[in-house]
Parts: sequence; C-alpha cells; structure tokens
Amino acid sequence: MDSILHNLQIINEKIHRATLQNGRNPEDIKLVLATKTVSPERIITALSTGEKFIGENKIQEIISKYDDLQTVPHKKHFIGHLQTNKIKDIIKYDVACIESVDRLDLAQKLQQRLTLENKSMDILIQVNTSGESSKFGVRPENTLDLVRSIASMDRLHIKGLMTIGIFSDDHVKVRKCFKLLKQIRDQIAIQHIAGVEMKELSMGMSGDFEIAIEEGATIVRIGTAIFGKRIYPDSYYWNESK
Ligand SMILES: *Cc1c(COP(=O)(O)O)cnc(C)c1O
Repeated sequence: MDSILHNLQIINEKIHRATLQNGRNPEDIKLVLATKTVSPERIITALSTGEKFIGENKIQEIISKYDDLQTVPHKKHFIGHLQTNKIKDIIKYDVACIESVDRLDLAQKLQQRLTLENKSMDILIQVNTSGESSKFGVRPENTLDLVRSIASMDRLHIKGLMTIGIFSDDHVKVRKCFKLLKQIRDQIAIQHIAGVEMKELSMGMSGDFEIAIEEGATIVRIGTAIFGKRIYPDSYYWNESK
C-alpha cells in the first residue's frame, strides 16, 4: 500500500515537471489510473490521495469492483476494446467516458441504447497511430470521416482522441505516434464540426507519458508505474477474443 502512495507521488511530480518544462499548465493534464487487475482496496488507496479518475479495460472488472468503489468519489473511463454486447453494462455501471470508440457500428449501437435510456456519453475516438495490427483503433486516414459520422449522433459527445503508442524503446518511434495523434486532432479541430470538441488527447502510459505530455497529452493513463507489474500480458486485455 505504501508503495502505491510513494509511486503516485513520484508520478505526479514527473507529470508536474513535464508540464512546466513544456510551458503547459499542470491543471490541463488528467491522470487516469489504469486499474486493470488492481483490487478495489488498492484502487481506494490511490483514490484517497485525491486522484479522480480510473480507467478499466473490461466490463467484468467494472462490475466486480463496482460496489466496493462506491465509498470513494471517482470517475470511470473505459479504455479497453468494447464489444457491442457490453454496451448495456457500460451505461448501467456509470462509465463517464469511453475512450476507445473506434468504429461506426459501435457508435451507432451506443447511440441507440443511450437514446432508449435517455442518457448521453462522453467519448474519445481511438486511433491506431502505430499501424500495428494488434492494436485497435481507427486508421489515421479514416479518423475524420468517423468523427463526421458520429458527430450527428446526439447522445455521443466527442471530446477528443485517444491512442496507444507503439511499444518500443525507440523514443523517436513512440513520439511519432503522439505527434500523429495531435496532427489528426488539429486537422479535425479546424473543420469546426458541430458538436465535436477536440480538447482531449489521451496518450501516454507508464513508459512514455513524459513524451506524450511533451507532445500535447491532456490525459495520461498510468498503471504499472503506480500499482506494479500485472500478471497478465497486456495482449490479454487488448484482444477481443479473450
Ligand atoms: C493498461 C493500459 C494502460 C496503462 O499501461 P501501463 O503501462 O501499465 O501504465 C494505458 N492504456 C491502456 C489502454 C491500457 O490498457
């Protein structure tokens, strides 16, 4: 438990430093705690320090942790691959933002369900900036079209873009992914599409969040550097068939 507090302090200091070094305001960066496989008890330890956001990859984990987390205020982001048959639960269990909308049929089904329940949802569009087939996300060149199509859906509020950078020790390659996301964001923003905000850039994880902040991230999603190593490989969480 102590290590969570210690790690959080270090991460927040690093975020703070990176924002100031880049002439940015620390308040413009949100830290989303990536809490896959992390127990409610450990999540509560982190939230008790004043952290406000958690990000989950699997609806099953959102459901199983739901009651325990009721005791401490927080907002939930969904950051995993979303199957359409899980939409009902996403809405039911108070997800505040789906960061991983990457295809039209998913958006259409979300819109349908939200209309039925007279609710709305903040979303980000997930872009595959690394070109790796293992990663979900809309292709960069198709992002604007997808945004345009979703813009007409009144229950979905597009707040920006999300990406998972390439896993590589080569900072140049990682940075390229983040630069690309920002470039796409800027291209969409100048279109001034009604109902579309391009404020948020969700990019950067434990290994690369400082680079992401340099490149304009407004949301960083950090798990390992706060909660320690996970038992399952990330592919387990990113692969739809599991
Ligand atoms: C797990 C996960 C993170 C956090 O990754 P760490 O390397 O543990 O910081 C961020 N984004 C997504 C989509 C994730 O699945």
